[in-house]
Amino acid sequence: MTSSAEDAPARFDVLIVGGGHAAVQVAAGLAGKYEGSVGVLSAELHHPYQRPPLTKGYLSGEVDEHELLLRPASFWEAPGVSLLLGHRVTAVDAEAHVVSTQHGVRYSYGTLVWAAGAEPLRIGLTGADLPGVHELRTLADTAQFKREIGPGARVVVIGGGYVGLEAASASVHAGAEVSVVEAQSRLLSRVTGADVAEHVRQHHLASGVTIELDATVVGVMDRGGRAGGVVLGDGRELAADVVLISVGIRPASSVLADAGARCSNGVEIDLRGRTSLPDVYAAGDCTCFPTEDGARMRLESLQNAVEQGDVVAQTILGEEATYSVVPYFWSNQVNLKIKTIGLVSGHDETLVRRGPAPGSLTVVYLRGGRVCAVDAVNAMKDYVDARHVLGARVDPNLVTDPTTRLRDAFRPEVAGHGAA
Ligand SMILES: Cc1cc2nc3c(=O)[nH]c(=O)nc-3n(C[C@H](O)[C@H](O)[C@H](O)COP(=O)(O)OP(=O)(O)OC[C@H]3O[C@@H](n4cnc5c(N)ncnc54)[C@H](O)[C@@H]3O)c2cc1C
Repeated sequence: MTSSAEDAPARFDVLIVGGGHAAVQVAAGLAGKYEGSVGVLSAELHHPYQRPPLTKGYLSGEVDEHELLLRPASFWEAPGVSLLLGHRVTAVDAEAHVVSTQHGVRYSYGTLVWAAGAEPLRIGLTGADLPGVHELRTLADTAQFKREIGPGARVVVIGGGYVGLEAASASVHAGAEVSVVEAQSRLLSRVTGADVAEHVRQHHLASGVTIELDATVVGVMDRGGRAGGVVLGDGRELAADVVLISVGIRPASSVLADAGARCSNGVEIDLRGRTSLPDVYAAGDCTCFPTEDGARMRLESLQNAVEQGDVVAQTILGEEATYSVVPYFWSNQVNLKIKTIGLVSGHDETLVRRGPAPGSLTVVYLRGGRVCAVDAVNAMKDYVDARHVLGARVDPNLVTDPTTRLRDAFRPEVAGHGAA
């Protein structure tokens, strides 16, 4: 179902742009319920797959490519939903309700869903285009990186966030010599507190990773036409065969912004997934949504993409649905399973508990005396209990006592006194 620039464009009643978690969730929510035609245009050549395992099971070899698929091939062969791969949308004419792809193919729509995700942040390093320099967003990126991190390879990871650290962990596991270079004074500064960051650092050091904090990379060295190392801001050089640039992402919203959609830190949506353009919705990493305090927030998480995708599908079906999220996130690295519920930001107090399991550490974050987030590292029970205490007041003595279940640290409210 294609058309050239001269032909009348092929039409879908609902056209979804993107091939990730949010796009698939919208398509799955409509399948079997929506009576019109649904098209999914994805820039990638692979059938839609799960991204979180790329730097976890896929890099470590525990999960193969086929296990990553978000839906079996039969889902895309069923009538009602058409998946068109290798179609990158480069322009949207919101008035005419038509999109155009990089090949000049046009599609018209009744309703458009923008679910284009995010793309790696590029920091303009000299040498960033040399062979041996990688970024990790797609299966194709990760497959190429995986081929190069065998025994003896020297790997430099630029950026100590979750994706970079998971890649560092998998590289050590594959037998590589790994250094992580982080510009901030600690790891994971965007996503977690100092206690967990230090805990994670210690475990990486113990596994053999070298970590440079307060260090910036100013360029990639060229050795015979491929990456040979990196130069740090203080003039030192770190030799490398493989360089991973993992310094964050930026929302893929520019095409929709050019079409006139209100965008700031991503495409602005309301709690039903509607953008400022008529008949255009958005979901996933590319969006920012209103919060209770009147600000806007963008989340980079699977859960956010899936839940927003659900809300958009329900809204298109005419059902009542609004987005309301309790964020959760997870990461596996070295021998640590890190699980976070809530948002680790804006807290004014932290309570730390250390359980008996190896590597166990739980941090409860409080804002104004109430729990706003919990990080549970190798502490599954604490993670399960965390939902019971989120938003509540807790007894600090019970929280820090690992012989008490975290859910039993809850302090019931007493009318007129705030807390018992
Ligand atoms: C390596 C890695 C590990 C991660 N680990 C975790 C984790 O442990 N937990 C967690 O919650 N989250 C994790 N994330 C984040 C999570 O994967 C994302 O939040 C999620 O994929 C967002 O889904 P999305 O559909 O919004 O965007 P994406 O999954 O990025 O999908 C967007 C799709 O749209 C396509 N596209 C972009 N522009 C266009 C265009 N113009 N036309 C057509 N198609 C377009 C892209 O090619 C892509 O296929 C991880 C991400 C990565 C990269």
